[in-house]
Parts: sequence; C-alpha cells; structure tokens
Amino acid sequence: MSLEDVIERIRCKAIDAGRIPSDIELVAVSKMQPDDRVDAVLKQGHRVFGENRVQEALKRWRSRRDTFPDLRLHLIGPLQTNKAAEAVEFFDVIQSIDRRKLLDKVSATSVKIGRCPDLFIQVNTGNEEQKAGVSVEELPDLIDYAVNEKGLKISGLMAIPPVDEDPAPHFALLKKLADRHDLRHVSIGMSGDYETAIELGATCVRVGSAIFGERQSSVSVG
Ligand SMILES: *Cc1c(COP(=O)(O)O)cnc(C)c1O
Repeated sequence: MSLEDVIERIRCKAIDAGRIPSDIELVAVSKMQPDDRVDAVLKQGHRVFGENRVQEALKRWRSRRDTFPDLRLHLIGPLQTNKAAEAVEFFDVIQSIDRRKLLDKVSATSVKIGRCPDLFIQVNTGNEEQKAGVSVEELPDLIDYAVNEKGLKISGLMAIPPVDEDPAPHFALLKKLADRHDLRHVSIGMSGDYETAIELGATCVRVGSAIFGERQSSVSVG
C-alpha cells in the first residue's frame, strides 16, 4: 500500500457508499515511523497527520511546521492532564478528550492563548478497562459539561474498537451517538478497516501502516 492507494480506495469506497470523498479526512498516522517515510509523504503533498504522544509529536513536527504552515496535526493518543496545555497550544485537533479534568485544562489554556483546537470526545465503545475513552453511558454528561459549563465546542467523536472484535457494530454505534448529539465528525477506521468505517459514516479515518509500512519499535525522530 501507499498514500496514493489509500486515497484512491477512500475515494472509491465513498462513491460506492453514496458519499462525497472530500467529506472524509485522511489522517496519516506517523507515530513511530522513521523521518524519511514521513518526509516522503509530505513531499507527495499530504498535510494531515496523527500522533499519539505529545512529546514525540513536538519533536517531529515543530520544525516541519515552519516549512509547511498548512499542516494539520491530530492528537489521537491518550492525553495526560499535565500535558494538556502543550497539546492545546500545538495540535489542530485533539481526538482523545475523555474526562472533565481535561476539559478544565483545555478551557483554561485556550482562554489564555486565544485559540482552541477542534475537540473530539473518545468513546470506549467496547467498555475495555485498559482503554481510554468515556463510557457510552457517561458521554451525554461529558458533552453537557464541555458545552454548558466550559463553553467549549465539541466537534466529533472518536473510537478504537477492541482488537479481537468485528469493528462494524462499534462504528455504527459511534455514528449513532454522533448523530444523536448533533456532532459532525466521526473518527473511526484504521489500516485494516477504514473502508468499513467509510460505509458506516466515518468523516475521519486514521491510517498508519497502510501508508507508511510497519511501525518501528523505536525510532529517533527530529
Ligand atoms: C496507531 C493508531 C492508528 C493507526 O493504526 P494502523 O493500524 O497503523 O493504521 C489509528 N488510530 C489510533 C488511535 C492509533 O493509535
């Protein structure tokens, strides 16, 4: 696979599903990928990337941002409260909001710096103990807190289905929740299942290995 193949498959799948291809944003997940692969994808003109750690993202993207001011960076990994301020300053989209404490930090920082990234709430649709995300039951309360108590806008929802289950019911559930709360963005689908996700309403797919190849267990980024 390659960037071009993935873009083409997204286009075909969208058309099959009666959707408009440009309604689906491709986030190229560059976490744990060597710099040369990331630079090759930049050279092909892609500008939307996802990282799952704040520090790794800062290291890789701070300098590249000067060269490519039109970059759009998504945080897709769990966010610690003590890294929230840095994340708000640096990312364009934070997809992993899952608790009130984070919303408090996001709100305080965005007031201070005068801008706020797009915010998605991560939902733990599989109720997995080790996984980040708010439960389906607690989602309405968290949205209410964000909007009515913190004055923040929530743009969408994100989910990572359990690895050993059919993702389709999880995708369908997330889409239903987004519709119910009138949220535009649905972030579902990774390398193995982004076509299914598009059928089920994804507006954002997060694709890593199908674009870049297998991740390295340790890479030095810079
Ligand atoms: C790593 C990661 C991806 C990309 O996974 P691939 O299988 O390589 O496409 C997508 N979403 C999240 C949240 C991830 O952590």
